Amino acid sequence: MKKIELTGLNRVLSNARKVVILGHKNPDGDAIGSTMGLNFHLKKKNINSHVIMPNDYPDFLKWLPGNDQVMIFERNKSECTDLLKEADLIFTLDFNDLSRVGDDMAKILENLDIDFGLIDHHRQPGDYATYQMTDDQKSSTSEMVYDFIDYFEETDLIDEAIATNLYAGILTDTGSFKYASTTAHTHRIIAQLIDHGAPNNLIHKNIFDVNSLNKLKLLGLALTQLKTVPKHKVAYIYLTRKNLEDHQFKKGDTEGFVNYALSIKNVELAAIFIEDLYLDYIKISLRSKNDFDVNILARESFNGGGHKNAAGGRFDQSLKECIDFFKNTITQYPELKCA
Ligand code: 5GP
Ligand code: MN
Repeated sequence: MKKIELTGLNRVLSNARKVVILGHKNPDGDAIGSTMGLNFHLKKKNINSHVIMPNDYPDFLKWLPGNDQVMIFERNKSECTDLLKEADLIFTLDFNDLSRVGDDMAKILENLDIDFGLIDHHRQPGDYATYQMTDDQKSSTSEMVYDFIDYFEETDLIDEAIATNLYAGILTDTGSFKYASTTAHTHRIIAQLIDHGAPNNLIHKNIFDVNSLNKLKLLGLALTQLKTVPKHKVAYIYLTRKNLEDHQFKKGDTEGFVNYALSIKNVELAAIFIEDLYLDYIKISLRSKNDFDVNILARESFNGGGHKNAAGGRFDQSLKECIDFFKNTITQYPELKCA
């Protein structure tokens, strides 16, 4: 599904005294790249804009230009709350439901009487935005921010900082240009971003070649704890709180682990279950190959959502209960059953 409703936005932007750009909770490369890319672009147009993230994000994204300007709501509630209340326009990027920023911030947003802008590639967008560009066929929100800039015929404003952020967002959300959502259009945009100064080789190195030894050892352990359910073309990994503590877990360390489970021949659905370090719930990431829709599985069974081939959610009981529930749930999908 695709929707573009941007009429009048440029006028609103040029009259706005303050614009805020938000990403979702537990921001990933696309949330960071798209919000910072748009922020630099608005600043080039002399618009007073700010980026707020609900909480912190992994170190491998902290070298990106503009990182020092990002405000973290969880760390600085009063200043962020003031900014939100003073804004004339708030963009929400890489998510489409206000609950994705977390309860405290969502409450503030719901009580504001202002216009929202939405740029996003997830399914089933909420109806809170006056101005929107949504398309669930797009590889990433960062790709859509390029489209957004192009829509207003402003690609000549793209500089190295904008290009680097958008490149990083597309790179991370496409699994290095590998996922099915990667199109010729994605590659054309990537070429444009390199032309506008994105240091492509450096971006890859800064994102992927910065592993800690602890992270690699945690991956080793995760792989020894990988289980398959061949009858249902499923593989899953679990990590306990103790596993994380033993490896001095840092935010982002488990990113990508679930893909190892999905890489097994004949596996159609992969999952990773991770005990939260502090709270009593299990964070779940789901991935699929081909037609199995993990967005539906995440929405129906794990209080989450996402895309057809990549989604996430949570489970509010023990790890064992979560895995038992998952193993029982997969038996209810005939398409996962081996012929
Ligand atoms: P990940 O498994 O990497 O955390 O997330 C994969 C995809 O699912 C991302 O596009 C992310 O936005 C989405 N996602 C992850 N967790 C949740 C969740 O709790 N709720 C919703 N609606 N989407 C999620
Ligand atoms: Mn995204």
